[in-house]
Amino acid sequence: MIRFIGWLCLVSYITVAGALAQTGAPPAIQRIEPTNWWVGMKQTTLQLLVYGPQAGTMTYSINYPGVQLVKTHQVENPNYAFLDLTIAPTTKAGTLQIVGKAAGKSLSRAYELKARSREPKGQGVNSADFIYLLMPDRFANGNPSNDKFDDMLDKQADTKSPYLRHGGDLQGVMEHLDYLQELGVTTLWMTPVIENDEALKQEAPDRMQAGYHGYHFTDHYRIDRRFGGADAYVKLSKALHQRGMKLVQDAVYNHVSNDHWMFKDQPTKDWFNQWPAYTSSSHKEQSLYDPYAAESDRNLQLNGWFTPFLPDLNQRNPFLANYLIQHAIWSTETFNLDGWRVDTYKYNDLDFLNRCNQALLREYPNMFIFGESWVGNPVAQAFFVKNNIKFDFASNQPGGLDFVFFGAALDALKQNFSWDDGVNRLYNTFAQDAVYADPMKLVTFLDNHDTDRYLSMIGEDFNKYKMGLTWLLTARGIPSIYYGTEVLMKNFKNPSDAEVRRDFPGGFKDSPENKFLASGRAGKEADAFNLVKKLAIYRKNTPTLHSGKLMQYVPQDGVYVYFRYDANKTILIATNSMDQEKSMETSRFSERMKGYSQARNILNDEVLRDLKTIKLPAKTVMVLELAK
Ligand code: CA
Repeated sequence: MIRFIGWLCLVSYITVAGALAQTGAPPAIQRIEPTNWWVGMKQTTLQLLVYGPQAGTMTYSINYPGVQLVKTHQVENPNYAFLDLTIAPTTKAGTLQIVGKAAGKSLSRAYELKARSREPKGQGVNSADFIYLLMPDRFANGNPSNDKFDDMLDKQADTKSPYLRHGGDLQGVMEHLDYLQELGVTTLWMTPVIENDEALKQEAPDRMQAGYHGYHFTDHYRIDRRFGGADAYVKLSKALHQRGMKLVQDAVYNHVSNDHWMFKDQPTKDWFNQWPAYTSSSHKEQSLYDPYAAESDRNLQLNGWFTPFLPDLNQRNPFLANYLIQHAIWSTETFNLDGWRVDTYKYNDLDFLNRCNQALLREYPNMFIFGESWVGNPVAQAFFVKNNIKFDFASNQPGGLDFVFFGAALDALKQNFSWDDGVNRLYNTFAQDAVYADPMKLVTFLDNHDTDRYLSMIGEDFNKYKMGLTWLLTARGIPSIYYGTEVLMKNFKNPSDAEVRRDFPGGFKDSPENKFLASGRAGKEADAFNLVKKLAIYRKNTPTLHSGKLMQYVPQDGVYVYFRYDANKTILIATNSMDQEKSMETSRFSERMKGYSQARNILNDEVLRDLKTIKLPAKTVMVLELAK
């Protein structure tokens, strides 16, 4: 999700529907959510949201062996009822009838309790994996017939406008799984695929933008038709698992689009965080962990809105909390997800986050969850994941996106070497890993859909490009790459983030080049692709890089050395960040190099037969696998 942008205060506050809907129509049931459930889940309770005109005024009953309707809740809006069910462990799969009665009339709706599939799910993502982040609208268009629909609020698709939808879809992703696998990718993370049936939004004073990025949900239980809908998503998930690959879904618990059906007819007055006038989040997460913070500051960070058109969900409402948690479980079970990336993590109610993580982990003990908390230092980052610090709040989140690594790696490449700067930034960052319960579970990256592109940030310097990617794929953590970085896509977010979300060359009918194919990658692009591939495949085949220890040495004279090692293997990663060649005496690394007499540089297969002094050309990195 994008960060705060200053123009927002100019946009008038959207009036939240004050009067909750009252209709004279006879009661009806239009929606039951979750739209189905399963037997044999560890959690034996289920809370159904029943929606329709006057749905909350009916008396409900369910007659199905093993299923009990324990309680029906009415809320302020008569169009909603919440039904608490228990599902006994012995309950058989089948279809039950939910019967609603009012004024002598009765109506019933079928509800399916499915048997759980044997498809792999909840496998988790770990440091043996390599994650590829892509935006389905911008990666490849596999089905031009679903690019736009006249009965959706945004009826346009045009690859010529950076702000409109481009027509990319899940079929397009399917068609390029060979490409991802060739690159060494094991795990796919896509920006959200949930329906964004919304009108163009005023993202800046001078531009209207489509919800092509997927972060503006309008219906939790629909996969966007323009991506191919639920059928295409199930197909993609199966195809990934058949290849031994994994699938991560992008969650947004913090807000929804103001075109979400539930915002248009709000269940309760406190479903969304309300303010007398439009109030933006402070975006100051410090107030959450600061021992000296004012309560009003915490409140503003958590309950202020992200933008005027993204109503902020109040997860302290227990019905909403259940709704979001059950949706996460429903999605995992329906689409056989292996991990969750959580958008705008630092803006959510903290107790809710822990409850949601715990519910997912209870059903899927290996589930990997990594939130987006855009912070600048290890203490802040540790607060949002399992950590070793005595904060007032103890997060149970297994992993997190490593924004601290991101900042440090970029500084290490951009800054001149000095006491704290240059490669010392990276060294200092790893040196503070004691704050995390498990730093190997941090998801590292060099750019993403909300940042300038990596190549542009490092001044299009290919030597630096190689260094950063080598760190990403050999240091601790779970590496991830943003689509196109491997073929040198570049750009700054100027004038907008659409510039870093350009179409993957070759994914669209009007693409002038096809960089999915080796024949379409020229010069440095081919070198870049081959470097990422070489490192990713090496990493995949080298358990030392998944679970081996890390030892780093104090950088000297712009040279930074770290080792990955275990009982089987020792790998030396040496970076010369300076403009001059360096002759590196290795005697100070004897703790790790004792007994080794030669090495192979896995980047170019060069064999070094004398390890006493290693020559490091200017601006280079070496990955040396040591041998006796
Ligand atoms: Ca399409």
